[in-house]
Amino acid sequence: SISAQNVTKRFGDFVALDNVSVECPAGELVALLGPSGSGKTTLLRVIAGLEVPDAGTVLFRDDDITRRSAGDRNVGFVFQHYALFRHMTVFENVAFGLRVRKWPEQQVRERVRELLQLVRLEEKAQQYPANLSGGQKQRIALIRALAPEPKVLLLDEPFGALDAKVRAELRDWLRRFHDEVGVTSIFVTHDQEEAFDVSDRVVVLNQGRIEQEGTPIEVFEHPKNEFVMDFLGNVN
Ligand code: ATP
Repeated sequence: SISAQNVTKRFGDFVALDNVSVECPAGELVALLGPSGSGKTTLLRVIAGLEVPDAGTVLFRDDDITRRSAGDRNVGFVFQHYALFRHMTVFENVAFGLRVRKWPEQQVRERVRELLQLVRLEEKAQQYPANLSGGQKQRIALIRALAPEPKVLLLDEPFGALDAKVRAELRDWLRRFHDEVGVTSIFVTHDQEEAFDVSDRVVVLNQGRIEQEGTPIEVFEHPKNEFVMDFLGNVN
């Protein structure tokens, strides 16, 4: 499992995260849900090692990794604006992280081929990102993050820029993919439906605090307070 415990993060005087604790058990998919500015991305960045919290700890299994750099955390990221490398083919994009880690070329080729098969994009291996649809690019971004076999996958609005139909398809696909690969994932979204559809647990954030946490059914059927009720009621 990976967890954040009593994390506080300030930017100047502004408190972006106020004593927040979340846990993502091994193999589960947890959604961080909340309105714009509620601290979702900041929490994900703290867990990723891209921000150092002012207080609190990040644990992976039983190890305190709060001060370990992002590169040392065995996590993969997919960000909405974390574009593919435009001057590289699909194959080279997915291979990139493996080559950086000095994988032998034969293994790189096998791993990339296997991942491209998994997302059914083998025939695009030699194409450039400009020739892919939005949904195809996101699938490539996902397998690029997964290529070095991270234990944890962090996704920040990975389908944010796509239209509703493609989002819904990719959402189902992400769930199957997550289970097949056997990774532990934390997923940021402001879309209630997306969070409820895809995750094992939902964490509802508001102004840097956790309003409620539970399974989608628990949260949906028993919203703990007015904020959660209103937020869930306002489905886009
Ligand atoms: P969105 O859905 O709009 O991405 P979010 O829930 O992910 O929102 P965060 O991006 O975590 O929210 O931001 C939480 C708050 O912290 C916001 O008010 C934001 O302006 C502030 N914030 C985030 N990063 C910084 C920074 N580097 N410097 C100053 N303030 C920041």
